[in-house]
Amino acid sequence: MMAQYLEIKAQNTDCLLFYRMGDFYELFFDDAIIASAALGITLTKRGKHQGDDIPMAGVPVVSSDDYLQRLIAHGFRVAVCEQTEDPAEARKRGSKSVVARQVVRLVTPGTITEETLLEPGRPNFLVSIARLGGSATGDYALAWTDLSTGLFRLTSTQPDLLATDVLALEPSEVIYPDNLAREPEMVALVRRLQRAARAEPAVLFDGATAQERICRFFDVSTLAGYGDFSRAELAAAAALISYLGKTQFAARPALDYPRKVSAGSVMMIDPATRASLELTRTLSGKTQGSLLATIDRTVTAAGCRVLASRLAQPLTDSEEIAQRLACVEFFVEEPVLADAFRLTIKGTSDIERAISRLSLDRAGPRDLGAVMSGLERARQTVEILAGHDLPAELAGAVQHLQKLPVELLQKLDTMLAEELPLQKRDGGFIASGAIPALDEARGLRDESRRYIAGLQQHYADETGLKSLKIKHNNVLGFFIEVPESQGPTLLSSYSGYIHRQTMANAMRFSTVELGDLESRIVEAGATALRLELEAFDHLRDVVLQETAALRRAAESFAILDVSAALAELARANGWVRPEVDDSLSFCIENGRHPVVEAALKASGGDAFVANDCDLSPPVGAEVQGGAIWLLTGPNMGGKSTFLRQNALIAVLAQMGSFVPAGRARIGVVDRLFSRVGASDDLAEGRSTFMVEMVETAAILNQAGPRTLVILDEIGRGTSTYDGLSIAFAAVEHLHNANRCRALFATHFHELTALSSRLSRLSNATMRVKEWEGEVIFLHEVKAGVADRSYGIQVARLAGLPAAVVERARHVLSELEKSEQGEKRAAIIDDLPLFSMLSRPVPEEKKISPVLEALSAFDPDQMSPRDALEAVYELKRLS
Ligand code: ADP
Repeated sequence: MMAQYLEIKAQNTDCLLFYRMGDFYELFFDDAIIASAALGITLTKRGKHQGDDIPMAGVPVVSSDDYLQRLIAHGFRVAVCEQTEDPAEARKRGSKSVVARQVVRLVTPGTITEETLLEPGRPNFLVSIARLGGSATGDYALAWTDLSTGLFRLTSTQPDLLATDVLALEPSEVIYPDNLAREPEMVALVRRLQRAARAEPAVLFDGATAQERICRFFDVSTLAGYGDFSRAELAAAAALISYLGKTQFAARPALDYPRKVSAGSVMMIDPATRASLELTRTLSGKTQGSLLATIDRTVTAAGCRVLASRLAQPLTDSEEIAQRLACVEFFVEEPVLADAFRLTIKGTSDIERAISRLSLDRAGPRDLGAVMSGLERARQTVEILAGHDLPAELAGAVQHLQKLPVELLQKLDTMLAEELPLQKRDGGFIASGAIPALDEARGLRDESRRYIAGLQQHYADETGLKSLKIKHNNVLGFFIEVPESQGPTLLSSYSGYIHRQTMANAMRFSTVELGDLESRIVEAGATALRLELEAFDHLRDVVLQETAALRRAAESFAILDVSAALAELARANGWVRPEVDDSLSFCIENGRHPVVEAALKASGGDAFVANDCDLSPPVGAEVQGGAIWLLTGPNMGGKSTFLRQNALIAVLAQMGSFVPAGRARIGVVDRLFSRVGASDDLAEGRSTFMVEMVETAAILNQAGPRTLVILDEIGRGTSTYDGLSIAFAAVEHLHNANRCRALFATHFHELTALSSRLSRLSNATMRVKEWEGEVIFLHEVKAGVADRSYGIQVARLAGLPAAVVERARHVLSELEKSEQGEKRAAIIDDLPLFSMLSRPVPEEKKISPVLEALSAFDPDQMSPRDALEAVYELKRLS
């Protein structure tokens, strides 16, 4: 057996091997040590290998899903090795023969399908990256699939957008050709993905055979019907298919046909922006408190997945956005209908995932049940919605539901039992009355059981032993049991009782009659199970014949669910339909931050203060372009909240949701940059300042006229002069070169002077009131410049010791006095921040080395590496 184990293990060195032995999956050697540590299971030993004990750990097959899930979460891959023959078969070959075993599946993070291993409301993406011919300048292509639902998409991207596009999918697993491993953008991406990234042999991504491999998989002669794909896209898709072959072995996943997502059709949101806006997770990695969790009112898992995808990839086509918004508006205006529909589909099982499991032969009776209940609810949904004047997308969805085959529902309905077990192996899922032969077998089995119950009475009467019982266990089957003291009497006085076993206080017997009945029961049970399993396979095949229709129906449910859910959200919170067009407007009236507002409401605190924001190109500006607001105000004044809320409103509007505002008009944003709050990226060995500069460089190099930029306190992580200079130059660049719509929050009050020089820049500030030495934040944005920083008041609020606050007040008043020009105290030079605040804005000449160097840089011509060099240069000059 060990020889067999070692042979199989040798072919699966990068996986933990689950080696099936009876009711357990066993792990040996290092696998056992790793798994016992990761799962907290006992490490034992079994036999010896080359004189040493063999470490062993095992998990019961029945609860293996749970262990698999934890191993996958730890980033391991698991090869599942099953017994592929009956032990009896092996014994026939000779007493020492080992049962044949084979790896039947590699469980990897991107290829799981089990309900227990998956998060219901999130897609589980496996992404494949390809580039043709290894050319250094070529575009990349991505193919991705969610094996648990069959979704299959392709797109192209450029090297500098690779990370943005891949990370937008929040993939569980990413494969890429090993010959691209050294490309800088791949290196950067792999570093971010860590264990989720996996290099595969380049042949998997071979472009020459790609088309043929895909055609073979879908059993078609051409892909023309699916769309127009680039060769790199085909290579990525073919690699994905081959990889599925490698991990799923014989099972053939029912992938949906490939659909192309054209580049530029979604809003580009880089990973830093995604993280800082907390779209699907908070900065601390939690789902709770993210925008997604706040807006999710879906009632099905598939609906939640679509909501998450829409949020991750807002659209850029104003027509498409309008179509989605029309769907939401329909339900907003038809609340009764919306409620009826939501009630109908609430908790609908996951049809997409059920179909995937059926196609991979990993399904149980409840997956058939899921299809049946889906069909049933489709019928009810059609009844509720048909006849209404639906917007196009909803009408299309209802049509798909109408097209579902009625016979399939009838068939499943008559065949399936009311209560369905999770596993098919014990039977009991086919309704009585569905299959006559099954009813007969079950009847025989049950009748014999009843007969046995009667037999006990008969034997007790016959022998006069009141305590005689008929019992059952797995070893003996049915047997007669009497107390040990009465056994010998029974044996000597009555014929026909055959002794089977003597226990400490009981003796067990059988009779010919009991034996006969038992074999009738076993036989009938086996027949019943066989018939049920045959029926299962039949129903599975019938369902799979309708895969395409069921998929479209599942998608339709999800669209309806999302639309009704967004309508519910809008109605409950007073959100409005945004106008999204192809202008460059960005005009929000009474905007609110959805998450902060919800949190304030939940805590019963103050109401959220709504604020306007208008970044539309000012009429009459000498140079056309979006407007920039320079926002000053004290800490805790609400700057970050205001910045983020406007970015979130853009995301919500373009994903097709109503928005938390009184009114909103947004010219499509094709790219969103948000840099709010710096954090040390210690894992990558970069300081806060370095991270900030790299990200700022990306923004200044890439922002175009349709971009929306949200920047918070650029230049804080360095000395004041440096910081101010960089912030100064960055604002100028945004205004003159990028000409995008931007919100820029800063502590450098000196920057506000720029508004006199830059025509599209205006100053705004967070209002505060001072009252008896205390500062009260009004959270109101108004035009103008903050008069002071209120840093000391905020520090006091934060609980700085009273003595320190007093001392600070003293130092500040000294500084302010010195500003009158009397005595410039020596301490000022030791306090660069204060000296900055108290001095007049330095003229350009005075900080010339840095500014001069800056003005010599041409960001449009810079690679990220040049930008880095530039930063070092600036640092040296400072
Ligand atoms: P800043 O970035 O200026 O330091 P924040 O945006 O972090 O300030 O806001 C500080 C706190 O003020 C937030 O946690 C929130 O509770 C509250 N706040 C911010 N904006 C508003 C608002 N518009 N209405 C009500 N409370 C707000």
